[in-house]
Amino acid sequence: MYILLVEDDVSLSEALNKALSSEGFAVNCLPKGKQAIEAVKTELPDLLILDLGLPDIDGLDVLRAVRKVSKDLPVLILTARSSVEDKITGLDLGADDYLAKPFEVDELLARIRVIERRASSSKHAGLTIGEVTLDTVSHQVFVSGAEVTVSRREFMLFKALMENAGRVLTKDSIESKLYSWGEEISSNTIEVHVHNLRKKLPKNFIQTLRGVGYIVKLP
Ligand code: CA
Repeated sequence: MYILLVEDDVSLSEALNKALSSEGFAVNCLPKGKQAIEAVKTELPDLLILDLGLPDIDGLDVLRAVRKVSKDLPVLILTARSSVEDKITGLDLGADDYLAKPFEVDELLARIRVIERRASSSKHAGLTIGEVTLDTVSHQVFVSGAEVTVSRREFMLFKALMENAGRVLTKDSIESKLYSWGEEISSNTIEVHVHNLRKKLPKNFIQTLRGVGYIVKLP
C-alpha cells in the first residue's frame, strides 16, 4: 500500500515516515501542495495524508484538485486548525477522516486501518481466482482453502496483481506500490518476491511477460 504524506513540518514528516514504513507501507513525503497534486496525477497513491497548513497553497485546495483526479482516493487530513468550519469543509470535499494535531502515532495507524478496511470492503474483501483466495481484510492468502504464509511485501505485490487480474502490471508500477521514492532496491527485487510467491501458488498462476511485467490471468 502506497501512502503519500504531504506535510511541511520536517520533524513530524520524518517521524510519520518512519512509523508508517516500519508498518510496511511504502511512503513518499512531500512538503508542498503543488508538488502533491503533480505526484497524485503521476501515480495515484492508495492513501493521501494531507496537512492543511502548507507553505504554498492551502491544503483544502490540494484536496479540491486531488478530487478532480480521483473521487475515490482515501484522504486523511492532518491539521493544527481545530475550527469546526475547516473540518466541515474538508469532509464536504470528501476527506475520509480528520486528525487534529497533536496526535499519537498509534491513533493515526488506527485511523489508517479503518480507511484500509473500508476501501477494501467497498472494493473486494475477498478476491478469488481459481483455487486462490486473497483476503484483503485479514491479509491472508489461501490456496484450495489452506492458508499460505506470505510476507507483507509479498502480500502487497500479490494484492496488486489480483486486483488487476487480466491486466499486465509493469515492474515499475509494482515497485511504486511496494517501495518509497529513493529507497534502495536492487534491480531483481521484484523478481525475487515473485519467485517466492510462485513457490506458494499453483503453477503458472503468476505469469511473466518478458520485458514487460507480470499478470494473473482471469479464468
Ligand atoms: Ca503545516
